[in-house]
Amino acid sequence: MEHVQVLIAGGGIAGLSAAIWCQRLGLSCLLVEKSDRLGGQLHQIHNEIWDFPPRIYPRGASLLEELCQHPAIQKLNVRLREELLAIDRDAHIVTTSRTAYRVDYLLIATGVTPNEIPALNGCKRVLPPAFSTTAEAASVAGLELAVIGGGDRALESAVNLTTHARHVYLLIRSNQLRGRSDWLRKIAALPNLSVLWETEVKGYQHTGERLLLKLASRRPENPTELFVDWILPRIGVHGNCAGLDGLPTFGEGYLKTDEFQRADDSWIYGSGDATNGAEYASLSLAVGQAMKAVKHMSMQCRSANRF
Ligand SMILES: Cc1cc2nc3c(=O)[nH]c(=O)nc-3n(C[C@H](O)[C@H](O)[C@H](O)COP(=O)(O)OP(=O)(O)OC[C@H]3O[C@@H](n4cnc5c(N)ncnc54)[C@H](O)[C@@H]3O)c2cc1C
Repeated sequence: MEHVQVLIAGGGIAGLSAAIWCQRLGLSCLLVEKSDRLGGQLHQIHNEIWDFPPRIYPRGASLLEELCQHPAIQKLNVRLREELLAIDRDAHIVTTSRTAYRVDYLLIATGVTPNEIPALNGCKRVLPPAFSTTAEAASVAGLELAVIGGGDRALESAVNLTTHARHVYLLIRSNQLRGRSDWLRKIAALPNLSVLWETEVKGYQHTGERLLLKLASRRPENPTELFVDWILPRIGVHGNCAGLDGLPTFGEGYLKTDEFQRADDSWIYGSGDATNGAEYASLSLAVGQAMKAVKHMSMQCRSANRF
């Protein structure tokens, strides 16, 4: 069985930053990434990134391009299309979709996955989670769309889409916004955006190129059926918890860690969105946490070697 000093699961910014720190602190590492490319959510950022100092990046792909030029990433031992599946906490063995490793330290940096709406299972008119309402908005020009969700991302998406779409319906399950209240002012000023409060999708029917949504609402004035061309669910995310069986979690599948980014075992660490919950998801935090986790591993290593 292959022995790995630090196994990093997840090739987003959290995992890549951890790899840089491994090299900096003299630890050898292997990174396994479930998909066929590095970068994670960086591929989905089509907005300007101005809160990751000191540079302003036009989009996530530009940041990733620069990150991949880093000498530590160029040299990094990466295995793509390999997924963390299970952890044997007593034996220090990590099982992936390809093999099993004997591991000194594991860093879980597996990020998040968008939530899905079970009532839309099998629906062919659902835009993918990575759909950009800025870069790709022109592709829905002249069409009618339903955006589902009441958080900042749903509201921002609905507002962005009004630039090209004929009409946007924003379906919100509750009677209040989860997102910032100043969105209400913006929404009110848009003639091609309607909010359907306290409304949920219960089913759908394909009718040619269009979709008939079946709705349920506590408000009698709201429609029970709605024709649209596309649906864009924006109902939040959950932590990617493959392999987390028996490890402490909170909220929707997020790994709970201590002040050194450790889960409850001394050899399992977490960083990035997988440990932060949606409220604190950010590039800066993911990078900082990676440093702390790897620094702590290196200190543990040094003190173990002293005896
Ligand atoms: C549209 C959008 C705009 C954003 N804008 C900003 C912004 O302006 N500023 C900012 O600070 N933040 C922004 N963010 C948030 C930021 O992108 C994230 O906080 C950050 O990218 C999280 O990095 P991560 O490495 O923790 O997770 P991710 O980027 O999600 O990476 C996790 C990786 O792990 C892989 N993986 C999952 N499960 C497994 C498994 N079992 N085994 C192996 N690999 C696995 C995934 O395929 C993925 O590549 C934005 C996010 C989005 C979606």
